[in-house]
Amino acid sequence: MVRVTPRRGASASSRVARSLERCVGMSMRALLQESGHRVHGNRADCRNCKGGSRSTVSFTNEVAYCHRCAWTANTVMLSKGLGKTVEPESVEKRAARTKAVRFGQWVDSRHREVSSRYRSLGRMAEIAKDVLIRFPESGAAWAALARFYHKEARLAAMLDVLSFAKASQWLETAATPVALFEKWGASNAR
Ligand SMILES: [Zn+2]
Repeated sequence: MVRVTPRRGASASSRVARSLERCVGMSMRALLQESGHRVHGNRADCRNCKGGSRSTVSFTNEVAYCHRCAWTANTVMLSKGLGKTVEPESVEKRAARTKAVRFGQWVDSRHREVSSRYRSLGRMAEIAKDVLIRFPESGAAWAALARFYHKEARLAAMLDVLSFAKASQWLETAATPVALFEKWGASNAR
């Protein structure tokens, strides 16, 4: 039986989000809590609404918005409100962050693509084996089996590389980015 179980883990984009929180040093969740908004999961109670304000605030890593009173804030505003000093994000840092997010999305989409190709070739190979038991002369079945064994090593290696890219902490080691990131950066230079 050919089993393909690509490694699981947090998606590269959520890993990026967490790395960014650490880099920027301001988590929207923590800032909301510090400013007196009760946080439940990915929603928060609005401190500015009167009554019935439970979980009316949606927030991302950068901005928060109350669906009831339309209160909005970003991490910089909240940090300043708490008397924290905020370093504005440099153009370089913002560009690096945008690039990092795009790389994460690319790794995720390639991983999905390669896994699905691997699985579909594996399924064909299984069918081919069954066919060959009854029809050992079937050229089509031999061809399907050959296709799988021919591609298997390459696809497995690609999945390993992509999983490594997902697991690596390339964002925090910008001085020594993984080879894949460099390769991707070179082909996506804009
Ligand atoms: Zn509100």
